[in-house]
Amino acid sequence: MDSSLPPAAIKRLGQNFLIDPNIVRKIVALAELTPTDTVLEIGPGRGILTEALCRASGHVTAIEVDPRLHAFLTERQPQFSNLTLVLDDAMTYPVEQLPIGTIVVANLPYYLSTPLLFRLLDQRDHFPRMVLMLQDEVADRLVAKPGSSDYGVLSVMAQYAAEITKAFRVSAQCFRPRPQVGSAVVLLKTKPQRALNQEKEAKFAALVKAAFAHRRKTLINSLKDQGYDQKLVAAALEALALSPSLRAEILSIEKFIELTRRIYG
Ligand code: SAM
Repeated sequence: MDSSLPPAAIKRLGQNFLIDPNIVRKIVALAELTPTDTVLEIGPGRGILTEALCRASGHVTAIEVDPRLHAFLTERQPQFSNLTLVLDDAMTYPVEQLPIGTIVVANLPYYLSTPLLFRLLDQRDHFPRMVLMLQDEVADRLVAKPGSSDYGVLSVMAQYAAEITKAFRVSAQCFRPRPQVGSAVVLLKTKPQRALNQEKEAKFAALVKAAFAHRRKTLINSLKDQGYDQKLVAAALEALALSPSLRAEILSIEKFIELTRRIYG
């Protein structure tokens, strides 16, 4: 095999490679990198974004799960003294060992975009900023506001952890092979202060999941179905001056936080 040719794309690994340098420029500009910044890239693929990140920042760690792509990039790595290539699964790699202040920039593999996003948000104390390409419909859910049909568990949990902006859409023509779904780039500025401690965050996450388990039901009935004490929830809603007939989809993140505090003290 000619090692100068990039390996063919493997669909199940979400390999849709960017081919448009203009999109690469826009992604890097959005990350506002400086020559002293440390960057984490997940899935460098054939390296189009990696190369630009190396030029714009102080150091890049790029984690790739595909050994063929890792080998392809390793051959080219001498051009970049500030690049550390890691052959590993980004779902298990200890991202918490990266320096605090690391900026994440990635064109995520779409089959894993949500779990990867939440793994990164779990470690948000390390990552002040993330610029991520993911599915357009996921981007819409990430930025959705209460009352919209896109508003759900993903919106509440992500907006609890970060201020999120949908920056721009990216046409399927900017990739090879072309993805079946639309793409968008989002900017996440993680919140430095945690509104709830670790124990209450777990309760908050469970409450939000239970609240949206039955979208058509009232919040109180949805929670009751998930094993919550109806009287306790009713008292908490009353104390917060919230109607007992409201549905989860109109409850703001702040109200979900207050509800957690009311129920769990
Ligand atoms: N950054 C490149 C670009 O923009 O052209 C490639 C992006 S492609 C959408 C996603 C990349 O993530 C692929 O290179 C794929 O092999 C890699 N990948 C898939 N699953 C991964 C995982 N669990 N950990 C690390 N990388 C993964």
